[in-house]
Amino acid sequence: MKLFGKIDKIYSVGLRFVVLDGFDRLPDKRAILARDIIIDYCANATLPKKFFRLRFFVDPGGPIAIGSELPPCAWVGINSVYSEDKWTVHFDTGYIDGTNENAHDKPGSLPIPQVIDHELTHLLHERKSKKLKNMNKKLDRLEKHPSTYAIGKRGALSYWRNRLAIFIYNIQLEGLADYISNLNADKLIFDYSCWKEIHRRAESASKSVNKAWQYMLRTAEDDSSEARELEDILKHDAYIIGLHVVFTLVLTGTDEEDILNWSDLKMIKTYEKACDKMKIIPVISISSRGIVSYKNMVADLKKKYNSQ
Ligand SMILES: [Zn+2]
Repeated sequence: MKLFGKIDKIYSVGLRFVVLDGFDRLPDKRAILARDIIIDYCANATLPKKFFRLRFFVDPGGPIAIGSELPPCAWVGINSVYSEDKWTVHFDTGYIDGTNENAHDKPGSLPIPQVIDHELTHLLHERKSKKLKNMNKKLDRLEKHPSTYAIGKRGALSYWRNRLAIFIYNIQLEGLADYISNLNADKLIFDYSCWKEIHRRAESASKSVNKAWQYMLRTAEDDSSEARELEDILKHDAYIIGLHVVFTLVLTGTDEEDILNWSDLKMIKTYEKACDKMKIIPVISISSRGIVSYKNMVADLKKKYNSQ
């Protein structure tokens, strides 16, 4: 079946279906290159076998996150009202056609299979987790806020509480997705030096979270530049902290599938116990013992916004 140019729209791979959408936006050569990589990946990789039907959509309108000028390489529309989005990976057009600086074939950028593994982990997670939908709605609402401090003291308290909850949630969401995609791309090795390097990066990320947090607590409410910086750090550092948390859990005997079924809080509490076994200070904790402590941060917020 040929719906446009040289690229078919629907491919059957084994007993499963792969739908390519929006590829007519790409120059022919780019479209064929991307198609070959995707179809080969779907035929051979493990994760796509968990989906009966998968759609890859070259999307002209990526979500631009607060604090960044570029849309992500890819995303999944978990919150979408369209049911086909339940099995769709959206690609940023520039990532596929080479115009985005993160394009898949530029040096140092992420290859297409690794990006798909990351997004498919989110889709799998979404199937299992009821909380995900609510968290994403919360996130959508926050993204629409024009300014943190235009919302008064009570507004700011609940704003930061929500931001924190999303940070904790992203540690699970992005940690799992980065763990699976790095593992499949052979970028994680089960030895001490690999674990240690990720631990070191997660430690430094959690220290920068703390620093930005303290800075935010000290600033006046009409100064939002520190708040923006903190938002960026919370968003960005959840990936490496999460990767470290998931890697540590798996190394100490937790099954990846279990983590997919757990709540974010349960994951981090179990990680705290894993840190006891490894005799390290948790990088993140729900209790007050980690370098970044959810409990202490919530207490900080109450102190700042209830005492003024
Ligand atoms: Zn992600």
